[in-house]
Amino acid sequence: MMSLLSSHLEDCSTPQYFCFSVRCEVCGEYWYSSSIPFSKAEQAIQHQEKKELYDAIYQREKERAKLAAGQEARERFSQCPVCRRLVCDACFLICDEMDLCRECAGRMQEPGEPVAP
Ligand SMILES: [Zn+2]
Ligand SMILES: [Zn+2]
Repeated sequence: MMSLLSSHLEDCSTPQYFCFSVRCEVCGEYWYSSSIPFSKAEQAIQHQEKKELYDAIYQREKERAKLAAGQEARERFSQCPVCRRLVCDACFLICDEMDLCRECAGRMQEPGEPVAP
């Protein structure tokens, strides 16, 4: 699940902030992770001569931010066991036999309640 999620994380980071988004494959809504500031954003602007150093720190912090975003997304997204798509809680239904995405549940006429209405 974690590797599926990280492959769906889209990088929306700026030089100041790290942020990632995930798109629900059923409703198409984007979810954005909480943005995490780059700890050296100001120094990086002031000290152009150390650009490579700050670039390296940036990359390291971005990796961490990506992991955190993955953890956060994990609480909001599920993988449908039938179509294998990554779906948001509003599109993921708790059904009697197995939890399914809205589209699969509808096709199989499986009644269920969304995880997050
Ligand atoms: Zn959705
Ligand atoms: Zn499905």
